[in-house]
Amino acid sequence: MTVAGPGHDAPITGEMEWDSAMYREAAAQFEKVAEMMSLDDNVRERLSRPQRSLVVTFPYRTDEYSKVRTAFGYRVQHVLTMGPTKGGIRYAPDVNLGEVAALAMLMTWKCALVGLPFGGAKGGVRIDPHELSRTELQRVTRRYTAEVIDMIGPQKDIPAPDLGTDEQVMAWIMDTYSQNQGHAVPAVVTGKPPALGGSVARREATGRGIISLLPSAALRCGVSVDGAQVVIQGFGNVGRYAAIAAAELGCRVIAVEDLSGAIHNGNGLEVGRLARHVDRTGGVAGFAGADSITHEELFALECDVLIPAAVGSVITGANVGAIRAKLILEGANNPTTLEADQALQDNGVLVVPDVLCNAGGVTVSYFEWVQDLQNYFWSENEIVSRLREIMIRAFEEVLEVSIKHKVDLRTAALMKGIKRVADAKLVRGVYP
Ligand code: NAD
Repeated sequence: MTVAGPGHDAPITGEMEWDSAMYREAAAQFEKVAEMMSLDDNVRERLSRPQRSLVVTFPYRTDEYSKVRTAFGYRVQHVLTMGPTKGGIRYAPDVNLGEVAALAMLMTWKCALVGLPFGGAKGGVRIDPHELSRTELQRVTRRYTAEVIDMIGPQKDIPAPDLGTDEQVMAWIMDTYSQNQGHAVPAVVTGKPPALGGSVARREATGRGIISLLPSAALRCGVSVDGAQVVIQGFGNVGRYAAIAAAELGCRVIAVEDLSGAIHNGNGLEVGRLARHVDRTGGVAGFAGADSITHEELFALECDVLIPAAVGSVITGANVGAIRAKLILEGANNPTTLEADQALQDNGVLVVPDVLCNAGGVTVSYFEWVQDLQNYFWSENEIVSRLREIMIRAFEEVLEVSIKHKVDLRTAALMKGIKRVADAKLVRGVYP
């Protein structure tokens, strides 16, 4: 596919190094909104391509000492205009430059939308973290950090956890970077353990942020929060804390899926007990008090709220017709394909898009970065209430744009994010 807007010297996809299905979707989404906004042609061209992309291959020693494997690693910084860049690092067997570039672009809109002083970035290593031992994972992480070390830093680019990475991985990155600097530099990553300058409530932030929008969104589609039936795909960093926050709000989490399988109980799962079961066994499968269902059945369940919180492209043309939820809160990045998005709109399903819905993680990451730079730490109450305030304000602002321009929430969110970045680019001008 070739998308060439006015002013484009070359097609923005197709011939580009970062071409991939996911990048084409992100670029097409951007182009659609840029067209609607009559975005300045020069800015439009600049924003359609990531500013910096690094691809590395590096060796790591397996636990069988004589065996050395090679891994692919990526870091992409989409826009460097508004401050340092910010974005997660994912470890997954199918990570590629196109996916990382698409996610970096999405991060730009997300940060701008909630008013954070960052451009978007993303990183990844093409490995299956579940197949590596802890010591192998540590060696991969430290060597990947060494490969991207010139690109990252508290004033340059600040990684965070994403799919397949966690607090421990962030601690190893912080340590490797600090060893190279000769002193501790906590602000180089967020999502660290609190003992290293990590923020309390960061782990729960994305899940909590999603659920903080549930009451306002439910109001828009006639769903009653009390007893609302919630279905969640993913029970990791995002899904688990979304489930806990939903249960605390009085919703019934009736089904959950992770890599081990999918489970269902129409009366509501005991989320706390489920979390302990997952800690013990590694997955939701086999949880007493629930029936096992298939992936297809999970997405087709009669429910009020569906929260995809695992991987991308799970709501597609193939299964969108079966979805019976009234409200979709996008916890994962890019869970809905463009085709499915249109079908959901046609079917009257309200979708709170990823750029808005899962912005709680990067918001508390921003708080963590600010705290590290100032060496002054806030209380959990301060963090949770500031997070709520930012999320709800962003939702209301997006809703206002959506009503004013008669567009869906995704288009409105992108319009708002893109406008802020475009304004910054125009006032900075072109160097030299
Ligand atoms: P994670 O690795 O902690 O958890 C992923 C969960 O999804 C696990 O329960 C895993 O078993 C499940 N899963 C993975 N592949 C699956 C599949 N094919 N089918 C069903 N379940 C599957 O990851 P996370 O940090 O929770 O991230 C989940 C999503 O949310 C990703 O798209 C990520 O980009 C996005 N996200 C994460 C954050 C964050 O703060 N961690 C912030 C914004 C967006």
